[in-house]
Amino acid sequence: MKDIRNTKPLPARFNGHKITQSKDQYPCIAEGKGHKMVHVLVWEREHGPKPPGYDIHHKDFDKTNWVHDNLELLTKSDHKRVHAGWIKTKGEWSHKPCTKCHELLPLSNFYLKKGPTKCTYSKCKQCQIQIRIEWARKNPELAAEKQRDWHKNNPEKSRAIKDRQNARRKGKKRIRTDKRIIWERANYQKRKATRTDMRD
Ligand SMILES: [Zn+2]
Ligand SMILES: [Zn+2]
Repeated sequence: MKDIRNTKPLPARFNGHKITQSKDQYPCIAEGKGHKMVHVLVWEREHGPKPPGYDIHHKDFDKTNWVHDNLELLTKSDHKRVHAGWIKTKGEWSHKPCTKCHELLPLSNFYLKKGPTKCTYSKCKQCQIQIRIEWARKNPELAAEKQRDWHKNNPEKSRAIKDRQNARRKGKKRIRTDKRIIWERANYQKRKATRTDMRD
């Protein structure tokens, strides 16, 4: 997570209003009974009221730098992604860092969560597999039970896996028998040859 920090000393006033800091360290001024964040005021001066569901982001990640060029309107989810280190390619989110190995990886390297949200897990596929293998090594009985349950609950996938395993086994057998036939033939010829030698 990219950290937002106040790097410069705050000016005391904005538009004649005394500047205070919100709980999450955003410079604010009093407005009515509540507070208004200064960077939001600066953005709204140019664009009108901030639409609901959106945040105003500091491009340089400095909460005190509220100059207009440093501000950007982002949806709340895009804003979270920017701070989590996601990267865009050709205007589309394409890469994000894994929370375990911290590698910046293409989104295809993350498993999709179940459900309609199309969210991906925070750890990459490789890390998730690693975690699962380590867990199974420590809990062999539970792992075997889990595997049995999975096969019971996913009959179609289970059958596909078993078919694939059988096909592989059959394939191996065929190769072995071919080799065996060739070996047997060669042996037969050899034996035949020695036998005739003996006869002569
Ligand atoms: Zn931000
Ligand atoms: Zn990882």
